[in-house]
Amino acid sequence: MSFPLCVIPWEKILSRKHELRPLMIIDLHIHTYAGSSCSVLPPDELIMRAKELGLDGVCVTEHNNFIGKRFTGRYDDLVVFSGVEIRSIEGDILVYGLDEIPFGSAQEIIDSSKEQGAAVFIAHPFRSPPFISIGDAIYRLKDFDGIEILNGNCTKEENQEAQNAMKSLHCLGIGGSDAHATGSVGKYVTEFDEVIESEDDFVECLLKGEYSVKNIIFKTDKLYP
Ligand SMILES: [Zn+2]
Ligand SMILES: [Zn+2]
Repeated sequence: MSFPLCVIPWEKILSRKHELRPLMIIDLHIHTYAGSSCSVLPPDELIMRAKELGLDGVCVTEHNNFIGKRFTGRYDDLVVFSGVEIRSIEGDILVYGLDEIPFGSAQEIIDSSKEQGAAVFIAHPFRSPPFISIGDAIYRLKDFDGIEILNGNCTKEENQEAQNAMKSLHCLGIGGSDAHATGSVGKYVTEFDEVIESEDDFVECLLKGEYSVKNIIFKTDKLYP
């Protein structure tokens, strides 16, 4: 089984923006130091870097809190969305569109998030220890929307295992950098088939699944750690 990665030269993405079909390229998994103590990424530098790369959107997904909501909105050509990465007993879950953060087992978090109308994706399910990940327990979980099949902190094999799980569970797949520093922003992205302006549209699009994950090679002059 081949991994469905497209490595697209950045210039080509920019030229596609002028075609009739609208699209948005969004990094769906990012931590800033404002809400995640493990991150060294300042929120203003995230916005600056995402603009420099030409991303259309970024989603701030802090650990277990809504601090990402502080930064949502439009910054010139860039839209900032927010979600949350919740640590369940079994491992991390990315949730978009929550009003209240549930805690507990993975299934309890999924159930409560779905009751709130949120989009629920199992984060980096096969990331190796010491990182806590849901692993094979994913096959026992029910009613989540999809799996993060491209995570910037996973190996190729770990992402491949996530993709295999997506195929056998017939669910959706998203991609994000899981950036904790400026240089990782945009490592993996999700390309949407429509322009998304509001948080409600964002969640609706995530639930619809009309997108694909991408590994984009950015070509910029500035290098970051
Ligand atoms: Zn995580
Ligand atoms: Zn994360």
